Order: sequence, then structure tokens, then C-alpha cells
Amino acid sequence: MFRFIKNVYEEKCPNCKKEQIFKKNTSLFKIPEMKDTCPSCNYHFVREPGYFIGAMYISYGFTIIEGALAFILMKLLLPPLSLGWELFIVISTFSLFIKKNYKWSRLLYLYIFPW
Ligand SMILES: [Zn+2]
Repeated sequence: MFRFIKNVYEEKCPNCKKEQIFKKNTSLFKIPEMKDTCPSCNYHFVREPGYFIGAMYISYGFTIIEGALAFILMKLLLPPLSLGWELFIVISTFSLFIKKNYKWSRLLYLYIFPW
């Protein structure tokens, strides 16, 4: 289980666990791009159009968990804030994790439903 989480966190190929699934990009605002196949084992990451729609549900789950954690930590650690500040903190937390949620949800989907 720990190995599985480590491989998803490190964005490794679900088949050989050696290569990165996503292309390197340094732009903060660019959507991460997946490689078509694994350079090491030739595993196909991109399967068919619409395949990763299911990953949206996983991303939604991550977002809810992050928002709930941000809300709980905010309530525990900070003095009472106005609703506007609370919304700002929770939405900022979502925004920080947008790219990671995108990557982790696709990775998790690939790991759960291998080809
Ligand atoms: Zn591979």
C-alpha cells in the first residue's frame, strides 16, 4: 500500500514503475501533458478519447478532502474570521493543488483500471 501511494505521488508508470507519466513543464499555468507511451516499457497511457473523464470524480474527492482539511485547520489554528476570508483561504487551498489533483487523479485512475 505504501509503495502504491509512493508510485502515484512520484508519478511513475503503473506498469514498470520507472518512468514519469507526465512531460516536464515549468509553466505554472499550463495544464500538465501526459506522454503517449512509457519510454521504458511502451505502456499506453492515452487510451481512448474520454477515458479520463472518470478521473474527474477522483479529482473532486481530492478537492473536497483538501478543502475540508483547510477549513478544519483554519478553525483550529486561526482566530474567528469573516466568511469572505474563510472562503478566500479554502479557495486558495484548492487553487494551490489544482495541478497536483489533475496529475494524481489521472494516475490513480490508471492504477485502479490498468490496461
Ligand atoms: Zn513503463
